[in-house]
Amino acid sequence: MSKFYNSQRTRNLYAPQSGDLFKISRSKIDLFLNCPKCFYLDRRLGINQPPSFPFSLNAAVDLLLKKEFDTYRAQRKTHPLMKKAGIKAIPYDHPQINVWRDSLRGGITYEYPGTNFLITGGVDDVWINEKEELIIVDYKATAKTEEVSIDADWQIGYKRQMEIYQWLFCKNSFKVCDTGYFLYCNGLTNREAFDQRLDFDVTIIPYKGKRTWIDRVIQDIYVCLSSNDIPKQGPDCVYCQYRETVGNR
Ligand code: SF4
Repeated sequence: MSKFYNSQRTRNLYAPQSGDLFKISRSKIDLFLNCPKCFYLDRRLGINQPPSFPFSLNAAVDLLLKKEFDTYRAQRKTHPLMKKAGIKAIPYDHPQINVWRDSLRGGITYEYPGTNFLITGGVDDVWINEKEELIIVDYKATAKTEEVSIDADWQIGYKRQMEIYQWLFCKNSFKVCDTGYFLYCNGLTNREAFDQRLDFDVTIIPYKGKRTWIDRVIQDIYVCLSSNDIPKQGPDCVYCQYRETVGNR
């Protein structure tokens, strides 16, 4: 067996008869929406997709952004990028900020009533505006020649991510601004040479979250995990098609 991938996990499986709290992360909610079958195989039967390799450059951008915004958080000052975008807010200085930003330490959580689910998410940043509303912020890093946007079909996951974080903070009794921001860093490839540096354009994209779908989806997840039947696969993934074709050889 590969040391990178265990194709038959025996831990973190949902057992319908157990009353123990069961974590459902925002990425698993997204997996359920993309393909209920893959979600069920993973959470009930312990068969998860092989992991992709980590995006180390994206992680480095995230880490440096966090450090940079933390200096403004400590001074309770608006970051110049926020000023330039006309956002009247400051990075939120809250004792739990490092927990909220670290999904491995729990992130922001909510025990969903009527289920034994603990819904979890790890945000990139939280700002606070003049009305004392929290603003959810998500960092994105890419390198493309066209202008960055969140309008492509595949970016629906970004929007859901923002909406779930907003919902989690609402459920934790915070006042949350409907508009969150994607802080999008685009690596510039039009330089003469690498010269041991990569420059970025940073664009702040506002997004007004709609959270009304979340309760229904969590109920659907509960029904799915409580059943002994494997649900149908989603329409847009090619891996099962590939697996079936390989299986026929
Ligand atoms: S279609 Fe894709 S996402 Fe769905 S079960 Fe198959 S591999 Fe998983």
